[in-house]
Amino acid sequence: MLAERVVSTICPFCGVGCTLELHVAGNQILKATSPYNSVVNHGNLCVKGRFGWDFIYNRKRVTEPLVRASARRGERATTTVAPADDPWEPVTWDEALDLVAARFVETYRLHGPDALAAFLCAKATNEDNYLAQKMFRALFRTNNIDHCTRLCHASSVVALQMAIGSSAMSNTASECIKSDVFIVTGSNTAESHPIIALQMKEAVRKHGAKLIVADPRRVEMVDFAEIWLAQRPGTDVPLFSAMAHVIVKEKLYNEDFIAARTEGFEAYVKTLESFTPAFAELLCGVPADDIIRAARLYANAKNGAIYWALGIPEHTHGTDNALALVHLALLTGHIGREGTGLNPLRGQNNVQGASDAGAMPWHFPGYQEVDKPDVVAKFAAKWGSAPEPKRGLTTTEIVAAAGDGRVKAMFIMGENPLMSEPNLHHAAECFRKLEFLVVQDLFINETGEFAHVFLPSASALEKEGTFTNTDRRVQRVREVLKPVGQARADWEIICDLAARIERKLGVTRTAYWGFESPSEALQEMGELVPAYAGITYDRLEGDGLQWPVPTRDHAGTAFLFAESFPRGRGKFHALVYHTSAEMPDADYPLYLTTGRVLYQWHGGTMTRHSHIDDAAPEPFVEINPADAAHLRIEDGDMVRVTSRRGAIELCARVTMKAVKGVVFIPFHYAEAAANDLTNDALDPRALIPEYKVSAVRVETTSAEAADMPMRSKDLTGF
Ligand code: SF4
Repeated sequence: MLAERVVSTICPFCGVGCTLELHVAGNQILKATSPYNSVVNHGNLCVKGRFGWDFIYNRKRVTEPLVRASARRGERATTTVAPADDPWEPVTWDEALDLVAARFVETYRLHGPDALAAFLCAKATNEDNYLAQKMFRALFRTNNIDHCTRLCHASSVVALQMAIGSSAMSNTASECIKSDVFIVTGSNTAESHPIIALQMKEAVRKHGAKLIVADPRRVEMVDFAEIWLAQRPGTDVPLFSAMAHVIVKEKLYNEDFIAARTEGFEAYVKTLESFTPAFAELLCGVPADDIIRAARLYANAKNGAIYWALGIPEHTHGTDNALALVHLALLTGHIGREGTGLNPLRGQNNVQGASDAGAMPWHFPGYQEVDKPDVVAKFAAKWGSAPEPKRGLTTTEIVAAAGDGRVKAMFIMGENPLMSEPNLHHAAECFRKLEFLVVQDLFINETGEFAHVFLPSASALEKEGTFTNTDRRVQRVREVLKPVGQARADWEIICDLAARIERKLGVTRTAYWGFESPSEALQEMGELVPAYAGITYDRLEGDGLQWPVPTRDHAGTAFLFAESFPRGRGKFHALVYHTSAEMPDADYPLYLTTGRVLYQWHGGTMTRHSHIDDAAPEPFVEINPADAAHLRIEDGDMVRVTSRRGAIELCARVTMKAVKGVVFIPFHYAEAAANDLTNDALDPRALIPEYKVSAVRVETTSAEAADMPMRSKDLTGF
């Protein structure tokens, strides 16, 4: 079949933001390609972008609004009702949205603004998120709005705000070919950001860059590394502080940069005394000589860069981990130039944009703080109303508040907290207490099962809008196909719902919901967010624009901080080492860490409904051969992994990718959900859960081995 048209849009999976050209005949996408001159991915696509979009055709897509029978009858049942006793009934959009508006307004009137909460969506567009947070803030006057950024880079954001006043990637990912040394830490880049990994490999192989990988797993990028620092999980602060110690002791720091651009250096240096390489070796398990070599390599680089992903922030001391990395850049002056910088790789396709658009409880759009009265006044003037100047609840706090009855009604747009929250058994108990839950998504996933109303939304290939990728590039998302059935774009549903809520509230406000296209919503956001002020849809044709774009004639910004930091001077912070909230012990002797695999994406709502699921269809646990031998586990055996919060059964992969004492489980599989095991202890500043360190034991479930004496308790982590 020949294509009738080719539509250019952006890949809906990860934050790299690759350009997709979809070749379409009738209602059928024939194939995906990418142009060789695409600025982000140079014609390359990973397997998800090339083949993974076929989830849009899956027969399990919900194509009409659904309401539980009990909710239609006007009953006030919580989700403790078993779905089998309370079936879905298809309804019209009018009935569904009127019901949602009535129940939300009823909750607001009876219990006040903070009885409502919303999970917004890092997969939805900037416009979807801008309008959804505006609906909750302007109409219900609550800041109980968050999304999965809380569960990935929240502590990177807090650390970067504390140290320099800006939390996005400072540079463009493809600039790594301009670095002569770069550090990759807490990132399985080859599987999580595959196209950026290609550019990193090119930097090493073609341009002679030296790569330092710091990671407790033997991830693929180790094959390209000059030095691999295999730190124990949770020991990033001593590792990177020991590198800083070496840089200071050997006077490898950039005196001019420190004098001109930073503050707090002298006090910080005193706190480094104890972080000797020998001390770090004891804590981290990394040879002191390797720490010294890595410090010298990075400090002596002409252009040094740091890239990190979730292995850094997802700890109870994630903010400290990220600060330890920031210190390396401030010491050496490896920031503010091409090929340098502090680069937290963002996971979801639009987690940067959802954060920019204000889908967070502490910030309005543009990171403007919700607890500052003058900022509140600015947004109230534009929208007609705004919340009291106080922070809202984060995702994990919202779940807890549902559990104790403070939050009674919830709206979830495109997220799946009953896969992504830690300690899932507890999270499910909390969701069962909700009086009213609305889920807006493509499929009824684990969270959708708990909903009273399900609103079918259009996929990213069925609507217009913009995504902002990991290096701040705002790009156009285009409607490739019409939405299936009665599904509608998220922004359209929100505007329709908000207008109904406003009528039911009976108030006259200036908030505007009559948008005819998402471009108008982006324009309104640009009037409130200076970094987006110069962005219009017509200016995004081609390669998009990297914010900040302060004016209509500004060309965008490839790298930040050439002259100064948003907070003025970069600030050093004293750090101390804290152990993780839960350490291996006699009962749970192994570290568990979690992450992604190439063929799957997060909670699996998209990839598990795609044919690429066949390439990685089963959950597994990676275990080091020495640990496996000790536990009499063979490759392919079924095993039970148990933590203090739950147990799952899955297949063992005996592999050197896992270092001794550490097992790894991908978090995509509902049938053996890694988050049944993870710990909901939080970083005190960012309130991000400690996904990357839990203590577990692993036991074979094979009958023959189960008869043997249990040896799991003999293990001690390392
Ligand atoms: Fe899509 Fe990310 Fe793969 Fe690019 S690297 S094709 S954006 S999943």
